[in-house]
Amino acid sequence: MSIMLFECHLTPEHTYMPTAEIITIGTELLLGETIDTNTRYIARSLRDAGVDLYRASTVGDNQERIARIIREGMERAEIIITTGGLGPTVDDPTRGAIALALGVETEFRPELWDQIQERFRRFGRTPTENNRRQAYVPQGALAIENEVGTAPAFICETDHHAIIALPGVPREMEFLMHGKIMPYLRERFDLRELIKSRVLHTSGVGESTIDARIGDLEEMSNPTVGMAAHAGQVDIRITAKAHSEEQADALIHEIEEQLRDRLGDWIYGADEDTLEGVVLAAMAEKKWRLAAVETSLGGQLLGRLAGKGESFVGGEIVSPPSDTSPEGLSRSVEKVCLAYRADVCLGVMLIPGETQQTMHLAIRTPQDMHKTTRTYGGPPQLAPLWTVNLSLDILRKYLVGS
Ligand code: ATP
Repeated sequence: MSIMLFECHLTPEHTYMPTAEIITIGTELLLGETIDTNTRYIARSLRDAGVDLYRASTVGDNQERIARIIREGMERAEIIITTGGLGPTVDDPTRGAIALALGVETEFRPELWDQIQERFRRFGRTPTENNRRQAYVPQGALAIENEVGTAPAFICETDHHAIIALPGVPREMEFLMHGKIMPYLRERFDLRELIKSRVLHTSGVGESTIDARIGDLEEMSNPTVGMAAHAGQVDIRITAKAHSEEQADALIHEIEEQLRDRLGDWIYGADEDTLEGVVLAAMAEKKWRLAAVETSLGGQLLGRLAGKGESFVGGEIVSPPSDTSPEGLSRSVEKVCLAYRADVCLGVMLIPGETQQTMHLAIRTPQDMHKTTRTYGGPPQLAPLWTVNLSLDILRKYLVGS
């Protein structure tokens, strides 16, 4: 294998749009003991700044392997961000690994050692000789003070790369990423683009039906339009790259209009909106009280409605009765409606079957009783979620139409 040698020094200007890779370091991540949340945070920060992320990988606490993965990353991307492995023990190999990847030594920085000692003093502790290791950085690196922890971060620059080493502790990493690294990247790589997303939520319609209506929009490059299917719901994400928030908003708005034109009331909300939130807001607008009764849904329907607003006045979980007919469900709905003095009562019963599951639904409204039966043939473990989503969607459409 050939080893590339890089000089670790500061070069001021780069004007092209950079690409990035994230490397999370820590054997505990590979053992499944710690969930990697750092990648998500960094990926979002980069996305918001318009930086394309090419790859994210995780590697254990092994200096050679980390160095190799950094060198590989440098062949594809200009920005490499690592997290973890900056602690004071020999198990914290990131400083040495980055030096190895760049073909330089590590060097002691007295000012970092002063900062570390000062921080320990403030916490009423005494640093050990081991902590001195944290004052070493690859030669020529730009050291970054970590005001919220002891491990200093650093940036190594080459003519084409910025290798950024951040601590593993999420709170420290986020503090440095937000306060120091993003401003640095904006300046160094002249980042003027940003990426903005908006998610439209649909329910009561399948992915393929949506795809047939909006397939042409899914082929666009800016904004991009992509779908993600969940049980009984499909999300459509619009993502725009632009030079300003206003420009991104305008790009998104134009596509959102088209999507709304084509998909009509299948779209129930956007971004943080939820089906239950939309249903309860419609109930509140009509000043109606909602009660609910569910069977074989594991409490999922009541769980979604409870505590989300005053319009939901309560409900009951009924074990599967001997009478699983729609009429049996209607009787329970009438009872619960009376018991809670509700204006509307939603009753949902899931009946498991060999190959498919059956859902009976009854909605008692101030005017009448609306009943329907649907079948579901997807993964059985998703049947309750599918049923809850579908029943909330049917109630939503009733409320919008009444
Ligand atoms: P410190 O010197 O503060 O320990 P460090 O850079 O050496 O910093 P690590 O020892 O690698 O960091 O990790 C410290 C802790 O941070 C881990 O025990 C783990 O709980 C958490 N952590 C590390 N990496 C991640 C990650 N990718 N996502 C979430 N948490 C992480």
